[in-house]
Amino acid sequence: MNPETHKELAQKLKKENRQFYDKLKKNTPKNLDDYFHEAHEEVFEQTDCLTCANCCKTTSPIFYQKDIERVAKKVKLKPGQFIEKYLHLDEEGDYVLNASPCPFLDSENYCMVYDERPTACREYPHTNRKKMYQLLDLTYRNTLVCPAVLAITRRLQTIL
Ligand code: SF4
Ligand code: SF4
Repeated sequence: MNPETHKELAQKLKKENRQFYDKLKKNTPKNLDDYFHEAHEEVFEQTDCLTCANCCKTTSPIFYQKDIERVAKKVKLKPGQFIEKYLHLDEEGDYVLNASPCPFLDSENYCMVYDERPTACREYPHTNRKKMYQLLDLTYRNTLVCPAVLAITRRLQTIL
């Protein structure tokens, strides 16, 4: 799905998806993780992130201290210089990128710091994590960013 089509569809389904995630919060199925993980596997088998990169283009991962140290070393900066050049604190007090798209995304959607990328990038879009009931608001918000999360949500809506 191209980013424009995804954006349009995600906006159109915004209310329905919000209601769905609110319902899951109120009445959480026992095997919620299993439902998510199965849908995650199915959707990502058919997803080529290199044709998308919408996450890297539009949102910032959180950079924890370890991430800062690793990525700074990779780009041959001291952690302080790295923060100065690329990061600021958000309203929750977490370090995030100053700008989107991410400065480490190349023109072919490859991550230039892939092996050292932040944990949040490794785990994105978090739909194969444990305790998914804690991530329902985040997952709802990610329907607006990630076509795979939107597809996972559509699948879950047919069974939950
Ligand atoms: S994780 Fe989602 S938003 Fe990021 S590249 Fe893959 S499909 Fe696109
Ligand atoms: S560090 Fe790499 S994976 Fe993370 S947002 Fe930037 S380009 Fe994407």
